[in-house]
Amino acid sequence: MRQAVSWMSLCVSVYACFSASAFASSCSPDGIAGRTIVVDPTEHPLIGTMQYAETLPLADHEVVLTFDDGPSPRYTDRVLGALADACVKATFFMVGEMAKTFPAEAEKVWSEGHTIGTHSFAHPFTFGHMTEAAAGEEIDRGIDAVGHALDDPARLAPFFRVPGFLTSKATEAALAARGLMTWSADFPADDWLGISSAEIVRRALSRIEARGRGVLLLHDIHGRTAVALPEILRELGARGFKIVHVVAASPTLAKTVTDPSQWRPFGQVHPTAVAALQPDAAGVTDPHQADEHPAASGSANPAQRTATIGHHGRAKPKRVAGSRRAKPRKDARRHRPGPHHADRSRGTALR
Ligand SMILES: [Zn+2]
Repeated sequence: MRQAVSWMSLCVSVYACFSASAFASSCSPDGIAGRTIVVDPTEHPLIGTMQYAETLPLADHEVVLTFDDGPSPRYTDRVLGALADACVKATFFMVGEMAKTFPAEAEKVWSEGHTIGTHSFAHPFTFGHMTEAAAGEEIDRGIDAVGHALDDPARLAPFFRVPGFLTSKATEAALAARGLMTWSADFPADDWLGISSAEIVRRALSRIEARGRGVLLLHDIHGRTAVALPEILRELGARGFKIVHVVAASPTLAKTVTDPSQWRPFGQVHPTAVAALQPDAAGVTDPHQADEHPAASGSANPAQRTATIGHHGRAKPKRVAGSRRAKPRKDARRHRPGPHHADRSRGTALR
């Protein structure tokens, strides 16, 4: 474990140096690009009000963009293009198998100055009942694979997102032992469902507006997300929002000074409302826009692969021990936000 922590310290240090200097934005201060905040994972190991009692210390009208499950050449490129056009930086939670299959795409995300965290090796939906050792092994394999894809593990941030948010005390212990910051989110846009790009835009904006700030969950493995992103960014800009870039503190990069109260949830939240998110059968209606996941079909040719796992995975729903989940409805899929995510424009719970 000492070796792992030492490795992580080096990783954090070099990563932070690159993020803080090499990729300073030259974009207009009048644009949507916001500030960069530096966070200490060991002080705030669990963030995101969909599950936890703390979230990032954002000011009103500040949003952090996160993308899970990639990299996918087919769609990550388009996401990167939209982010570059807006001069904003995001955090990508990469799956080890994806990065191993598409290392050039992983490196491209890095070269464009985004923060890269990990999202396990094979995206299992079983972190909720793994032992700490098994969870640690899966976490380490993901870090190792993404680190190799980037040619340098020091390019990784010590940020992790649990697949499906299906976590447990044992998993969180494994993450904490590795000095990793576990990211939930403050609101999803449901882009893993078979909804239209316009609906992704509507849900993202309505939820951001309702809360005024927070961490948005998206996925860079869907065409509909790539289509929706430019409009989300345009609208957020028009409404006066800023996109905040998040990097990790290190011995050479001091954390952003914050007050503990800034990490507490804002507004009315129910941190345990989405404690158990399920890999329900998803609404992937267009097979051409499905994931490109190496584990999905077993095909040796990534181009022939059509994923069945990921945030909109087609894995058969399983009951997780200790889950709060009621019997799933067909339309109540993976993310089941609580009342604080109510879509006020329609008065219905968002899905
Ligand atoms: Zn995922």
